[in-house]
Amino acid sequence: MTGKTHLGIGVMATVILSEYIPIQLSLTSLGVCAFASILPDIDHPKGLINKYILPVKSKWTKVTVYITLGIFILLLNYFYMNYSYLRSLGIFLIIIGISTHRNGITHSLTGLLCFLSILGNAAVRYDLINSILPFTIGYGAHILCDMCTNRGVPLFFPFKKTKYKMPLTFSVGSWQGNLFEGIITGAGLIYLVWRLPIIFTKIR
Ligand SMILES: [Zn+2]
Repeated sequence: MTGKTHLGIGVMATVILSEYIPIQLSLTSLGVCAFASILPDIDHPKGLINKYILPVKSKWTKVTVYITLGIFILLLNYFYMNYSYLRSLGIFLIIIGISTHRNGITHSLTGLLCFLSILGNAAVRYDLINSILPFTIGYGAHILCDMCTNRGVPLFFPFKKTKYKMPLTFSVGSWQGNLFEGIITGAGLIYLVWRLPIIFTKIR
């Protein structure tokens, strides 16, 4: 599944769910959701976010950049800031650096909880409380979509390395996979267009 498909599904899921649960829609919360829905794939050197971060899209560049960035944040925080969320972010970036695609922490519930604890901590400081739920939906939708592919995801990493997947799966790029992605995004878009006037009034 491409980064753009994950992004579309994550944002659509948040907007649709906002009709049923109290989610405050705003450009910030939708932006955070869009970011969260592609975030798990930062463990892949060619993931959508890494396209803009990594100068060379190779495994070793990813390892080097994330470990360096993590150490830089830890040192910066140690000497100048002393925020607990920056300390967690630094450590987490180093762990992401050594994770391989879909075998590590970012495609697990542990990863989601780690990001949520960092965001939760930063949210109080930067007034992002309303973005926590959209972040969770975007990130969760990514993991659920990856569970529909035949590679599955290590949902309980690092406690269990078993890959979990849905009873019905498809391989990415196959006609079944493309059909599945087409049906999900098509149905979501039809729903959004139908409800657009009401949804627009909710965006602040
Ligand atoms: Zn993924």
